[in-house]
Amino acid sequence: MRFETRSIHTGLDIGNPSTAIVPPISPSNIFEIDPEGKQAGDYHYSRLQNPNRQQFEAVLTSLEGGADAAAFSSGVAAAAAILQSLEPGDHVLMPEDVYAGNRWLVQKLLLRWNLDVEFMAMHDPEEVRSRLRKETALVWIESPSNPLMRLTDIAETVRLAHEAGAVVAVDNTWPTPVNQRPLEQGADLVLHSTSKYFGGHSDLIGGAVICREGTPLFDQIRRGQILGGAVPSPNDCWLFARSTRTLAYRMRGHNENAFALARFLESHERIDRVFYPGLESHPQYAIAKKQMDGYGGMISFLLDGHATDAIGVVGRSNLVKRATSLGGVESTWEHRQSSEGEGSVSPDNLIRISVGLEHPDDLLEDVQKALKG
Ligand code: PLP
Repeated sequence: MRFETRSIHTGLDIGNPSTAIVPPISPSNIFEIDPEGKQAGDYHYSRLQNPNRQQFEAVLTSLEGGADAAAFSSGVAAAAAILQSLEPGDHVLMPEDVYAGNRWLVQKLLLRWNLDVEFMAMHDPEEVRSRLRKETALVWIESPSNPLMRLTDIAETVRLAHEAGAVVAVDNTWPTPVNQRPLEQGADLVLHSTSKYFGGHSDLIGGAVICREGTPLFDQIRRGQILGGAVPSPNDCWLFARSTRTLAYRMRGHNENAFALARFLESHERIDRVFYPGLESHPQYAIAKKQMDGYGGMISFLLDGHATDAIGVVGRSNLVKRATSLGGVESTWEHRQSSEGEGSVSPDNLIRISVGLEHPDDLLEDVQKALKG
């Protein structure tokens, strides 16, 4: 079956003994044990597994083309489970522009794990080649990166990492499996902040890890999920599974609207540069065409000016809301340096926009007005 059909039908039969087309929410956190004291069915205690989490994990597995999935209560909890599945002292390569929360995770929280993490230019295969060593256990890819939209050639980086005996995890939050499926390109793990496009309505926090095949590493990630305990509630899993039914169509809308807005921004006299993988002006457009089916809903651009000009533009919108994060049906934008705060390496004239599903003409009009001043 095709992607859209699988999004809608996968997992509907799990924990759904009736003729209901929509599976029920199973709030019970305990399940009856048989008279001999053994687990009677598939479930025992809902931190370990429950029907709604299983439904969501089934659809995640199917859409990424993997073997199994583990859902978490946030994207950073999913990242922590991956990193904690490594041995203390393991060498890890991470992009220098990795999502800041994941950088803080290794630099401020997992210090006692003593991972040897190198932040480097992941989009440059020569850099990857020169930094891989026999102790390298994990190579972490985030493509497109935030906020400069740099792309990493997934297949090539996987080839180099596997030659060196390292596992590859790809944070696929921004593109989603609609636009990019890293497991098909040989990656071992895919990570998501499902708070973004999977939830899709700016009202849920969640995360997930999907594996290409069952391995002892994924067994350890599963242990991290159920023993670490950062699991999503049945109610949240039900909402995530429900939102995922429309993911393909929402992403098409995000892709189309963002493409139209990126072209408009590129032609605007107040804008110096637009970063969007679907534009021919993107320095890695060839990689985008090779590994992406669509270019996503995120755009960054540099205004001709400085921080005060960029803050002024963002302050003048009516329809586009001022907020961080991404992936909702409503468009949001931010002066990225202000959101990141101290230590931000984003240029001071950079605005990042998460393009929503409003009518594209309404969006263009609002952005045009904000740019006029
Ligand atoms: N990965 C990326 C690319 C993100 O943008 C985010 C959140 O902004 C995360 C991971 C972390 O996800 P969460 O906020 O759900 O913990």
